[in-house]
Amino acid sequence: MYFDYAATTPVDPQVVEAMLPFWTDQFANASSPHSLGRLANTALEDARANVADFLGAQPKEIVFNSGATEGNNHALYGVANSLKGIGRHIIVSSVEHHSILEPAEFLQRQGYKVTFLPVDKCGTVDIKTLEAAITDQTILVAVMHASNEIGTIQPISDISKITRPRKIPLLVDACQTVGHIPVHVDDLDADILTFSAHKFYGPKGVGGMYIRPKTPVESYLRGGDQERGFRASTQNVSGIVGLSKAIDLCRQSMTDEARQQMAFRDQLFKEIPRLVEGVRVNGHQEDRLPNNAHFSFDRVEGESLLMVLDMKKIYASMGSACTSGAMEPSHVLRAIQLPDELAYGSLRLTLGRWTRQEHIDTLIRELPGMIKGLRI
Ligand SMILES: *Cc1c(COP(=O)(O)O)cnc(C)c1O
Repeated sequence: MYFDYAATTPVDPQVVEAMLPFWTDQFANASSPHSLGRLANTALEDARANVADFLGAQPKEIVFNSGATEGNNHALYGVANSLKGIGRHIIVSSVEHHSILEPAEFLQRQGYKVTFLPVDKCGTVDIKTLEAAITDQTILVAVMHASNEIGTIQPISDISKITRPRKIPLLVDACQTVGHIPVHVDDLDADILTFSAHKFYGPKGVGGMYIRPKTPVESYLRGGDQERGFRASTQNVSGIVGLSKAIDLCRQSMTDEARQQMAFRDQLFKEIPRLVEGVRVNGHQEDRLPNNAHFSFDRVEGESLLMVLDMKKIYASMGSACTSGAMEPSHVLRAIQLPDELAYGSLRLTLGRWTRQEHIDTLIRELPGMIKGLRI
């Protein structure tokens, strides 16, 4: 029983099937001039057009890469370098993924000024606070589309109404939303938007970024003219074909899947607080991912809970995959000012394409007893 779709998703068998020929018969380098190379290049450019269409972008605005960690690093360093003569102030929300926070902290050590924007108790960025944080030195604002941890969706189109007139590039990490809820680069009015295939039933190690024309962002990898020079290195054609096939499947079934997952999620939200004492639901009530349920249990050790669940082959997480294993509550739970006694007993349940009613029923049946047994 897999309840950790926010950490990664299984690759859809149809995606595997679409990828196979690009490791064998059609293995060529997409930059090779011969006809086998042109075949690979056609597959690559078809994928680019497909991804662009899905996001409401133009093909030339899509750069393929190794995933969102790379995309986020590229965006921060690329913009910071490009605009260092204009200003050296960066604003990032305090609930961003580590792949944004750590590059921002690195830039801070290089002499940039970084504002870590606070959020409210639901994890939402406040527009007025953002507006007040902007100075004439601000060269980048980064706010994620939705939290991988507590599921809160940020008001990106309101945020871009602040950044756009001031000509400040807006970076949106859309890892948790692409393929799950509609993502349109012009509706959000993002300048850079990052995503990763393994979060929507594609393979690991491949992803991409949207870059709005004229956004001041330097190349990330040099040494070839692939990806219009933004990202040198031979493209991962099979991976990119898989990413594109995964987009096709999401385009078809995203709406129905979101509706189904929301029903399961709401069942968890209704039943778990009814059956368990001392529980808190984290994240925004309405503006949240359809597949994310995040709880905190008073006087329970989250890590012990995960172990007990694991023994029943129920796979869940405390928060982001990257912080579990560490003893400290995550930066996100700190940012929403969750009291310690709750933060240590957190449980993230994320649902996906293969979540079934019986999985939800089993969880609702098993969890109350486990919590009782673990109470300190
Ligand atoms: C998974 C994730 C990332 C990192 O993506 P990778 O492709 O695994 O590097 C970044 N941001 C968010 C919000 C994520 O959920």
